[in-house]
Amino acid sequence: MKIGIIGAGATGLTAAYDLVKDGHDVTVLEGADEIGGLAGSLEVQGTPLERYYHHIFETDRAIIDLIEELGLGPKLQFHSTTTGIYYDGELHDFSTPVEMLKFPPLGLLDRVRFGGSSAMLKVIRNGERLNDRRALDWVRRWAGPRAAEVIWEPLLTGKFGSRASEISMAWLWARIHYRTFKLGYMDGGFHQVYDGLLRAVEERGGKVEMGKRLAHIAQPDPAGPVEVRTEDGARYEYDKVLVTVPQPVFAQAAGAAPGDALQRAEYLGATCFVLECDRSVIPYYWLNVNDSTFPFLAVVEHTNMVPTSDYGGRHVVYVGNYVPRDDWRYTTDPAELLKQYEPWLRRLNPDFDLSWVKDWHFSRAAFAQPVVTPDYKPSIPPHETSMPGVVLATMSQIYPQDRGQSYAVAMARRVVEQYFR
Ligand SMILES: Cc1cc2nc3c(=O)[nH]c(=O)nc-3n(C[C@H](O)[C@H](O)[C@H](O)COP(=O)(O)OP(=O)(O)OC[C@H]3O[C@@H](n4cnc5c(N)ncnc54)[C@H](O)[C@@H]3O)c2cc1C
Repeated sequence: MKIGIIGAGATGLTAAYDLVKDGHDVTVLEGADEIGGLAGSLEVQGTPLERYYHHIFETDRAIIDLIEELGLGPKLQFHSTTTGIYYDGELHDFSTPVEMLKFPPLGLLDRVRFGGSSAMLKVIRNGERLNDRRALDWVRRWAGPRAAEVIWEPLLTGKFGSRASEISMAWLWARIHYRTFKLGYMDGGFHQVYDGLLRAVEERGGKVEMGKRLAHIAQPDPAGPVEVRTEDGARYEYDKVLVTVPQPVFAQAAGAAPGDALQRAEYLGATCFVLECDRSVIPYYWLNVNDSTFPFLAVVEHTNMVPTSDYGGRHVVYVGNYVPRDDWRYTTDPAELLKQYEPWLRRLNPDFDLSWVKDWHFSRAAFAQPVVTPDYKPSIPPHETSMPGVVLATMSQIYPQDRGQSYAVAMARRVVEQYFR
């Protein structure tokens, strides 16, 4: 078959790899000028580094298997990392169950309730039955109002903003249930997975064309070819097409009417700084900022997980956010935004000064996080579309798990098996 794949992120490249191995004639059309999508990389002192903080968990079987299949297994290392919470003007250790149970902002009873309710989420096997429960209601009931206020509400607000109170408990369950304390990272970055997939696709005759933004997709005759047009005016015909771009991008290209189910997915955007510093900024790998007055949600010091020597001695610090696309943190000029963040970073480390930042990078993604409310599940579109030759495999179809590279890989492989074999 002549197959077109739209998008060269984790989903598109994994599918391309499996389909060329099956002997198909595969072309991937990617709108950006780099591969990897949300897991794409920039360079820090010559080493590729994800634009947005990325790690995997020991339960992320699909990507671990793919890494091994590509011969990259020895590069994947699992690290015991550290986590902190900034709350009420102070940094608190929050890495281990013992530290969690000693967390000073909570009284003894609240700590016990927090520990017990978190353990319960690890034990509950079918979290999907929590679909129609709101996460904040559930944690208020089981972890208690104080733990909800100090720990969960700021986290949900940081991630979903004004929509925090509407998020489904099934989503929060999956975040707790499947996550492990040890975090996996590849020496030299996840970029190697996407590069490895690209090479394997090209070696088997597949093509990946960059700068090809999907503008229009149609199958005028259900028994005929699928027509794809890109923004630069190019036109393609395929026997079948796998679309992996964000749901709203597909909805628009397919000409879905305003009330169409495809138009219903709601996403937040993401912004993220990578600061290349000459010294450490926070004493943790991951710091949750549990203070809703802050303009950002998390600070991740990547080089508290992997050595600074991988990045020419630079301390690599991410400052990240999920925000609506019309939010000032999404629209402000990045140089100006960094200046605005400085006093807030100083609250986390009173010595912090912008002169520590020797170089910086800023990334923005329009469709980074689906808003997963209790009525989300029934609104997820099927992989089959109204066009028999077009299959949709996109991030918004992953639920209740939070998006992740491993779920993207697993979805790509499932869809190839189900619709292309
Ligand atoms: C801030 C942040 C942190 C994250 N942290 C982690 C983590 O720690 N661990 C983890 O495993 N995952 C993490 N993820 C999630 C992970 O990056 C994604 O789940 C995964 O990369 C999704 O892959 P995908 O191919 O489905 O989608 P995408 O990566 O979105 O790929 C879609 C591709 O389509 C392209 N495209 C878009 N529009 C068009 C168009 N019109 N025409 C052609 N091409 C187009 C895009 O450029 C992109 O390459 C994180 C994501 C974010 C935003």
